[in-house]
Amino acid sequence: MQLDTLWQFMQVDMEADGFENRMRQSPNRQKLIKARDFLKDQQANMKKLESDVAVMQDRLEAVQDEAERLEKSLAKLSEEIEANSPANVEDAQKQAESVQKLLDTLTRYEQELQKMRKDADVKDRQQKEIRVRAAKTKQEFDQLKVEYDKEFKADTVKLQKMRAHTDEEAKKVDAGLLEKYKSIKQHCTPPMAKLVNGQCSGCFMSLPSATLLEIRNGSRIVECDNCGRILYDAGE
Ligand SMILES: [Zn+2]
Repeated sequence: MQLDTLWQFMQVDMEADGFENRMRQSPNRQKLIKARDFLKDQQANMKKLESDVAVMQDRLEAVQDEAERLEKSLAKLSEEIEANSPANVEDAQKQAESVQKLLDTLTRYEQELQKMRKDADVKDRQQKEIRVRAAKTKQEFDQLKVEYDKEFKADTVKLQKMRAHTDEEAKKVDAGLLEKYKSIKQHCTPPMAKLVNGQCSGCFMSLPSATLLEIRNGSRIVECDNCGRILYDAGE
């Protein structure tokens, strides 16, 4: 009976597919992917921090230059005031105001510089933390990779054997039937379902008695109207 051999074939085919799925879901593989993603994130964080620090450095230098320039102006102004005492109260007041203005600006710059240095320290610490964390993860990744490579190699050999077995079994199946199986498998797996109590055991739809009769007779290959699986009467 054609469907018996197809059913036999499906058992080994599903076993191989299941094994391949388990390979893909291997805990070591999942851990490796997680570690790799984490490292990528850390690289991105590091890049962001580096560009932030570069911008900050530019700003810091600019403010420092500006503060230096102001200090010089202030010194010059003080010298002038000392050299020529103000002629009257009004002039004296104006001079005092100019000095105060310069001092205020300088104070603001000093505050900004202080804040930027603090920020730079924070970013520096963050960079160090990232480096330490990334190095630790990289080490774990490398160890895991060695382990996983071994596992993968062994599993691949096993899978190849299973696939070879599947190919052997496939030779026993009618070529047209195998094509049908493969095309159903693309949207529905497993592609065959047993007939149980007049129902498709893939989707549990009850089948009309005319269809049941056709399956029993084996007069043609019948697919479930609902799920599209090839219906198999194991004669149980
Ligand atoms: Zn069905």
